[in-house]
Amino acid sequence: MKKIFIILISVFLAFNANAATLINDTEIESEITKIVAPIANAANIPENRLKIYIVNDDSFNAFVRGGEDVFIYTGLLKQIKSPNALRAVVAHEMGHTIGGHMIQISDRMSAEMMRTMIIQALGIGLMVAGGNPSAGAGVLAGSTGLAQQSMLSFSRDEERMADDMAVGLMVKANQDPNGLIEVFNQMHDINGAFETRVNPNKINHPLTTERLNNAKLKIKNLSNVPKSPVDKTAKENKDYEMLRAKLIGYLDSDKTILTKYPYKDKSNAAIYARAIANMRAGNLDVAKTGTQTLLKRHPKSPYFYELLGDIEYQYGHYDDSVDAYEQSLNLSNNAPQIETALAVVLAERNKSGDKERAGELCRRVILKEPSPLAYWILARVSDGATSDWAMAEFYKMNNDEKNAKKYAKMARTKAKKDSPEYIKSGDILKLKK
Ligand SMILES: [Zn+2]
Repeated sequence: MKKIFIILISVFLAFNANAATLINDTEIESEITKIVAPIANAANIPENRLKIYIVNDDSFNAFVRGGEDVFIYTGLLKQIKSPNALRAVVAHEMGHTIGGHMIQISDRMSAEMMRTMIIQALGIGLMVAGGNPSAGAGVLAGSTGLAQQSMLSFSRDEERMADDMAVGLMVKANQDPNGLIEVFNQMHDINGAFETRVNPNKINHPLTTERLNNAKLKIKNLSNVPKSPVDKTAKENKDYEMLRAKLIGYLDSDKTILTKYPYKDKSNAAIYARAIANMRAGNLDVAKTGTQTLLKRHPKSPYFYELLGDIEYQYGHYDDSVDAYEQSLNLSNNAPQIETALAVVLAERNKSGDKERAGELCRRVILKEPSPLAYWILARVSDGATSDWAMAEFYKMNNDEKNAKKYAKMARTKAKKDSPEYIKSGDILKLKK
């Protein structure tokens, strides 16, 4: 049994078990950033300010906060027909932000809803990490509640305005606005049966058919409808299929996975989904064979090495796991999530020099993308004041002020005056309730 993994689960699950879950995954986030970036640019948001959050919830839903924080539900990612349709959804949500429609929603958000959520990494066997309040958290209190809220809180006029703006943003970004039509057709399939029974005058939310017709008319009146180049679209679709396979492999049941990706399917996406599913089920040999096939086809993929690292970790082969993560780290240009995974395994292997390296990796993660997990590992691989200070930061990120202050006090008694640990612990002690 992997000690750290067991402790991690119990430590992190102790924090708000009912909160919404965000999925933290380098491959998925970077893929979606690529898809959405043209729309963000068209909305005058620089790509480096754009941040993608993946909400683990089966609703067909997405929303944007403050223009730059894009929240997309796994249900939408798994079901949506194409990357261009996904782009259109985000364009619509940005339309709400640009139109100022979000303000009324934020007003309605209670302080309670602005609190933490759980962030879950897909790697290392669905490792569960703690909430990250800096992640613009909050809007996601109960995810079901939120899904309903964002579906229902915009008026008919606002929805039409956002649809119009979506068409405008797609055109400005030089993307085919018919992505929006694709979305409405799909929503119609999902909601159709329900909508025919609803009197359009009695609800705020405009019926999909009405929105579909409005968008079609809007596109028809355009002087020039951008078309995505065929080869670029094919590449994007292929990359998207890998993202979808990963989500399905991690989140769905074996039955769903084998229906969508039967063994006779030898595509990269199918092998990927099955390898992940087999890892989850503990069929490590099968998972490893699949992953090695993928690596033979794509020896430069950081994510296939990441999966190999996860599988070796599950075996308890720490040396092989470390080797695979090191490869992944090099190829991914030091992605924080992979640095964290490597730190977990190093902390557990605990050969000479491993603790130091793990500590170094955690410090790098904390500089780039602070996470409770990075602080937690840092506390584990350090001693004295550093360890206590890191625990204080860990509790602070989980909104546990009492324990944060307890550890900050301990750190101050051990730390040299004016050392970073002393100063940062002092900041924690100054936190107001
Ligand atoms: Zn809307």
